[in-house]
Amino acid sequence: MITFYNERHGQHHGKAEMFRGELVPCFEVPSRVERVLAELRGRRLGAIEAPQAFDEAVLERVHALPYLQFLRGAWEEWVALNGGNAQRDALPSVWPVRGHRSDVVPQNFAARMGLFSYDAGTPLTAGTWDAAREGAWCALSAAGRVLGGARAAFALTRPPGHHAGHDFFGGYCFINNAALAAQALRDGGVERVAVLDIDYHHGNGTQTLYYDRADMFYASLHGDPLTEYPFFLGHADETGVGEGLGCNLNLPLPRGTGFPAWHGALGQALRAIADHGAGALVVSLGVDTFEGDPISGFRLRQDDYLRIGEALASAGLPTVFVFEGGYAVSEVGINTVNVLEGFEQRGG
Ligand SMILES: [Zn+2]
Repeated sequence: MITFYNERHGQHHGKAEMFRGELVPCFEVPSRVERVLAELRGRRLGAIEAPQAFDEAVLERVHALPYLQFLRGAWEEWVALNGGNAQRDALPSVWPVRGHRSDVVPQNFAARMGLFSYDAGTPLTAGTWDAAREGAWCALSAAGRVLGGARAAFALTRPPGHHAGHDFFGGYCFINNAALAAQALRDGGVERVAVLDIDYHHGNGTQTLYYDRADMFYASLHGDPLTEYPFFLGHADETGVGEGLGCNLNLPLPRGTGFPAWHGALGQALRAIADHGAGALVVSLGVDTFEGDPISGFRLRQDDYLRIGEALASAGLPTVFVFEGGYAVSEVGINTVNVLEGFEQRGG
């Protein structure tokens, strides 16, 4: 399986995030991707290439132009406010809620940070835009390779993407790489695409992007939002709207869920994807379902990830894997590559 590696990912390196009432060192760190890269090389899973470059206009297939313009210039604006800001990350601290205006874009920088985000866990740094854009190119390159006939391709990127929506960032995510890959598959002629999100956290960004679409089936296995981030979306009764009704499947699972129950839910999601008649699959590949993950609550073990890869291969669909979460840094490479190796071993 070919991997497209985001060489600029390390330029996005946040210092701190707001977590449970205090600023703590970021969990989403550059070494995550480096661990996966080392494991891929060690197991010789396949070629590792830089992505091709695209016109930035392609990002508007998924994201609002004012949002992209804000992200593109945000760091320069932040530093222009105060020279000392060059040593500080930008973190949002104020947000519009129900009854407030979100249709007027404020001039104040902090207010725009809040308008285009939904949490204080996602620092914007000097290299965020370049890293996120290069990550998007990885996802698009992987989709292109699959459209060209490859059985599968892997976008090894950070920052991750599945919490990013049409005009908002959060959950460590800025550009929704999986959603871009899915749209690229559609634009390349695949009539129905499925996005299967196996990250511990519900992919609220992806769901909101495709909630009214019949050509995009979104299925997610995740920690129950009653207790788990992102809290405000991801319930089982969210099944789509309008033409997209019936094209959204949320399978929330309680904190503490182990592999047997998780694997059962995966089977349910794969059957739904088959019933939908999807012609290609995008996997939001997060491995924060691991028992040792510092911010999550499932109990999957290293060998379980091989079984996951085998199950995904059984769908028999051209597949784009997009790297998402996984914060147990010393195991993130093993767990991620176990999924890919399980997929490869199963054959197609
Ligand atoms: Zn996650």
